[in-house]
Amino acid sequence: MAVIQYKNNDGQGRRTIDIFNPDNRDFLYEIECQTPDEVEAIIHKAREAQKSWAALPVKQRVQYFYKLRDVILARRDDIISTVVKETGKPVQDALTMEVFATCAFITYWCQQAGKTLRDETFRAPGLMGLMKKVHMTYKPLGVVGVIAPWNGPFVLTANPCIQAMIAGNAVVAKGSEITPFSSRILEDLCREAGIPDGVCNVLIGDGETGAALTRGGVDKISFTGSVATGKKVGMACLESLIPFTLELGGKDAMIVCDDADLDKAAHGAVWGGCINTGHYCCGVERIYVHESVYDRFVGKVVELTKSLKQGKQYGYDEDVGAVFWDKQYEIIRDHVQNAVDHGARVLAGGPDKADPSSLYYPPTVMVDVDESSPLMRDETFGPVLPIIKFRSIDEAVEKANASHYGLHGSVWTKDKHKGLEIARKIKTGSMSVNDIGIMYGIPNAPFGGVKESGIGAVNGEKGLRGYTHAMPIVVGQYRGEDSGYPHDKTKFDQMNKLMDFLWKSFIGRLFFD
Ligand code: NAD
Repeated sequence: MAVIQYKNNDGQGRRTIDIFNPDNRDFLYEIECQTPDEVEAIIHKAREAQKSWAALPVKQRVQYFYKLRDVILARRDDIISTVVKETGKPVQDALTMEVFATCAFITYWCQQAGKTLRDETFRAPGLMGLMKKVHMTYKPLGVVGVIAPWNGPFVLTANPCIQAMIAGNAVVAKGSEITPFSSRILEDLCREAGIPDGVCNVLIGDGETGAALTRGGVDKISFTGSVATGKKVGMACLESLIPFTLELGGKDAMIVCDDADLDKAAHGAVWGGCINTGHYCCGVERIYVHESVYDRFVGKVVELTKSLKQGKQYGYDEDVGAVFWDKQYEIIRDHVQNAVDHGARVLAGGPDKADPSSLYYPPTVMVDVDESSPLMRDETFGPVLPIIKFRSIDEAVEKANASHYGLHGSVWTKDKHKGLEIARKIKTGSMSVNDIGIMYGIPNAPFGGVKESGIGAVNGEKGLRGYTHAMPIVVGQYRGEDSGYPHDKTKFDQMNKLMDFLWKSFIGRLFFD
C-alpha cells in the first residue's frame, strides 16, 4: 500500500489524497488539495497583509520571530510528532534537523536582519565619487512563494519563509503532499506568535497546487526539491519574469585520502549516508577511497553500518527510520538491485535484508560498483554507501567531478591545506573538509548548488538579501550644470583632456588607479 493515495484525481472536482504513516502504514488523514482559485485568493490576502507588515521597522519584525522561537520551543513535541508521523524519521533526526535547526536559523536571522537589511550609503568610484553618492535600500519584494520537499518538511518550509518574512514580505508556502501538516504547522505557530494574519500562509496540496502558486502572481519563488520539478518551476518563473532560487538534488562525493583519520572518516561516511534515512540533500552518495587505506576504511564502515538500529521499536535509540514514501523506496531498491545485477557486492544491508512488505530499507554498503550505473550517477536519496577505490588525487577529483550534480561534497585528510586544495578543485556548490552534513545549517554561509543542483543561494547575506530588491538611489552631491547639454567642441576637448589626466598622467594614475 502506498503512503499517499489519490482518491479523486480525475480532473473533476477537488483532488483528495489519503495519507498513511510510513512506519506502520496506519491511515493518518485525508487532505484536500487547494485549487488555483483558492491559491489566488490566498496570494491576494497575503498581498494585503504585506503592506502593513513591510511598514514595520525591521527591529519590530524581529521581535515577532523571537516570539516564534518561544512558541516552537513550547510546541516542539507537536512538531516532532507531526514530522515523525508523516515521514517515519527517527525522533532524534526530527528534533535536531527540524526543531533545533529552525530555532538556530531564527536566532541568526533575528541577530542579522538589522545589519543586513539596513540602508547603506557609498560613493561612486573614481572621480565620479566626488559628485555622486549612492544610497542602497533593501525593499521587500511583496509576496514570496516557497515550495518545499518532504525530506525536511518543517525546516525547509520555515527557513526560507522566516528569511522572506523578516525582510518584510508575506509568504505563501506549500509543503509536499507527502508531509502536508509538517509544513502547515508553521502557519499555526506564526499565528500563535502574533504574526499578523495573512503574513504567513501555508497551502495544502500537490504539484498542481504548487504550479498554481508559481503562476499565481507572486513576486519570487524559493523552491527546494528535485531537478525535474525545479526546471518546471524555473520555466514558469521565467514566463512571468519573477526571480527564483532552485535548491535541487545532489550526488555528493566523499574523498578519503591516504592520510585521513579513518575512524573519523568512517563515522562521517555512515552518518552522512544514513542521516535522515539517507534523504539528505547534501548527504554522502558516493565514496572514493585511496587504495592504500581502502580495505581498512571499508571494514570500519561495514562494522558501523551493521551496528545501526533501525525501527521505531528502538524509541529514542533509533538511528535510521523508514523510507519516507514508497516512490523513494522503489528508487533506492532499483539502484541497489541494478548495481548488484552488474557485479556489485553487498557488504551490509542490501536486497536480501530488505522486507518488501515495509518501507524500511536497511543501511547498505556496496563495493565493486559499476561507475556508469544509476547508483553512481543518479540521486539515490537513501541509506546506501557505494565505495570505490582510487589511486591518485587527480583520479579522485576527476571521478568526483564526473556528475551532472554539484551540491556539496567532502574531503578527508589530516593535512588541512591539502584538504582545501582538493576542495577547491571540486565543481560543486560547497565542500567540507573532515566534516559532513552541516553545510545547510550554517546560516552565515551561502548554500546553493551548481550544475543541475540549482540556481541561487539560500542563507548568508546573499540569501537574506535575495528576498529584497536591492535598490540603489543616486544622490547628486555637486550642484553644477543642470544637464550635459548643450554639446559643443569645448566640452568634447575637455572630456578628452580629462581622460588623459585620469588614465595617462602620473598624478591621475597615482590618485585614481
Ligand atoms: P519534488 O520536486 O517532487 O517536490 C518538491 C515540491 O514541489 C513539492 O512540494 C511538490 O508538491 C512541488 N511540486 C511538484 N510539481 C510541481 C510543479 N509543477 N510546480 C510547482 N511545485 C511542484 O521533490 P521532492 O521529492 O519532494 O524532494 C526531494 C528532492 O529535493 C531531492 O532531489 C533532494 O535532493 C531535494 N532537496 C534539495 C535540497 C537543497 O537544499 N538543495 C534540500 C532538500 C531536498
